[in-house]
Amino acid sequence: MVFEGLRYRLLCPTCGLQTIDDGSATSCSAEHRPSLLRTEYERREFSIDHSTEGMLRYRDWLPIREPVETTVGTVILQSAALNAHLRTPNLRLAFNGFWPERGARLPSGTFKDLEAVAILARFPRDGRTLVAASAGNTAMALASAASRYALPTTIVVPESALPRIAFARPLHESVRFIVVTGDATYDDAIVAARELGLLDGYAFEGGARNVARRDGIGTTMLAFMEAVGALPEYFVQAVGSGSGAIAAHEAARRAIASGAFGNRYPHLVLVQNAPFAPIFHAWSARSESVEAAHRPTSAQLAGAEISAAVLGSLAPPYEPQGGLLDALTESEGDVTAVDNAAARAASALFEELEGIDLEPAAAVALAGLIERIESGALPREASIALHITGAGRRRLEPERGIPPKIAARIAPNRA
Ligand SMILES: [Zn+2]
Repeated sequence: MVFEGLRYRLLCPTCGLQTIDDGSATSCSAEHRPSLLRTEYERREFSIDHSTEGMLRYRDWLPIREPVETTVGTVILQSAALNAHLRTPNLRLAFNGFWPERGARLPSGTFKDLEAVAILARFPRDGRTLVAASAGNTAMALASAASRYALPTTIVVPESALPRIAFARPLHESVRFIVVTGDATYDDAIVAARELGLLDGYAFEGGARNVARRDGIGTTMLAFMEAVGALPEYFVQAVGSGSGAIAAHEAARRAIASGAFGNRYPHLVLVQNAPFAPIFHAWSARSESVEAAHRPTSAQLAGAEISAAVLGSLAPPYEPQGGLLDALTESEGDVTAVDNAAARAASALFEELEGIDLEPAAAVALAGLIERIESGALPREASIALHITGAGRRRLEPERGIPPKIAARIAPNRA
């Protein structure tokens, strides 16, 4: 198989079909059970481009088709105060947020900036409009990044997310917003984005099914590998769309295949926000599917005080080949669920120790880590990576005074 100019190809883990990436494919063209396409890079060894900062240091393991420039990336750091408090000497934070004193400068304050760069690096600049759905953070990261390249982009958001979306600089006119009104959830926005993506001239970016999104966020694991020289034994991550967890596992697979990082996957420790924890229930029962009974309804999600609204996805890719079930099984992973009170306590603890505010999803992850350590499921001495998916919003917010321009308002389609 030749790579034809691109330094990667797409692989279907179900049928083994390898294809040259057209930049927007999100599923295999063969007919079989659902599976997640993944990238296979020409370069097998882990290489670092020392001429740049941030995620593009790992450009050989990113699906780059179009030019992008950025210095954003994950910072790997240790909190002496947190490690003393938890008695976890080998706990490191894979920190995606805004904390300039510690070298973290993600403009949106979340890992969504990493995804946005990778999405834009892969999506063809052929006049088609990129369509994405967002619960808030993707909207800010992707809109800002797309604006820089004047890429036609439409971002679909639920109305409830609007108050959180604002920008420090005006966006390019090619970046537009569509609002799904009423009690619409993130999943209603996904449905609308998928429908819009079917129209001529539009393409839905695919969410967790977009290899660029996953490989972009997968650089969090690569940054850990560069900083520590090894994979962690445990990787702790909150689960919303599931892309972060699957991406971490895929990055570990690449590391292991390179021959330089041993042969043991980091155990994925995934954390959900109770009471809506479909992955937790499915995994606890060793079920091969997420049962409908455990999926929250749109109305429940919209009305609930779920502390991490971004984690409230109805349908993360659990069952598809290459999805969460496979990643948990292969990594001998674990799923836990924490309630809002535990998440709030974790958030307050981190702020007291380090003086920086966590995004709700990061607080859920920290609460899950604490729960797993206290229950004895996770050894204190182990090498642990805690993915802080967002932090430092409080300092970013005052600079954001420009609301998004709304191109259209539509009702949710729940047919
Ligand atoms: Zn296939």
